[in-house]
Amino acid sequence: MAHHCLKELLALQAVDMRIRHLEQRVALIPKEIESHRQEQEKLRAAMKAKKEELNRVGLDIKKVEGDIKQKQDDILKIQSRSTMVKKNDEYQAMLKEIDGIKAKISDLETREIELLDVSAEAEASWKDFEKQSNSSIKSLDGEIGELQELVGQLKEEITRTKDGRHSMLNKIDTETLNRYQRLLASKQGEPVVKVENSNCGHCHLKLIPQTLLKVSGGLLPPCDNCSHLLYSAEE
Ligand SMILES: [Zn+2]
Repeated sequence: MAHHCLKELLALQAVDMRIRHLEQRVALIPKEIESHRQEQEKLRAAMKAKKEELNRVGLDIKKVEGDIKQKQDDILKIQSRSTMVKKNDEYQAMLKEIDGIKAKISDLETREIELLDVSAEAEASWKDFEKQSNSSIKSLDGEIGELQELVGQLKEEITRTKDGRHSMLNKIDTETLNRYQRLLASKQGEPVVKVENSNCGHCHLKLIPQTLLKVSGGLLPPCDNCSHLLYSAEE
């Protein structure tokens, strides 16, 4: 292995680390988009639930109103029959029955007022909630669009960088390049590392003297432990 290819190898490594960084960034984006979409789904589900609650209160009010109307009709029916009642005790029983129904109507009216309060409150909070939720969904749409655009840009940059990489390969001897490519494919840190205080710059284990000698000779030897290619910072 010749020393003269170190500079070229480090240049290649810088390009490859850039590509690796870009590819990692691209790989993360689908998850980011997915989490934005889930966020949107949550907002839509919350809006649906709130709207359903609002509708339920509306139906409850209609139901109470219907019950009141029914009972008022019952009273009218009893009153229309009253003209035919001759006996006083029957008449008294009829009045008592009407009083009973009126008491129930009064209860229903109280219930209706309560429900109208609930409905008014829910209606007011719904409008704010709907506005906020829709605006959040819209801004998430914007972010998703930006991420999709970013993927396109990153992929273009990866292609461009890979194209530029090709011309760098023939400046490095085959054996070194093969070792380098294997280390690169393993995706563990940088394939070519500095020796730091007689330790490998990748796995940080102490290097044997023979290896250190090769390093100082500029031979780019592999680490005894992790096989990453070693060079000396002093040269
Ligand atoms: Zn090592």
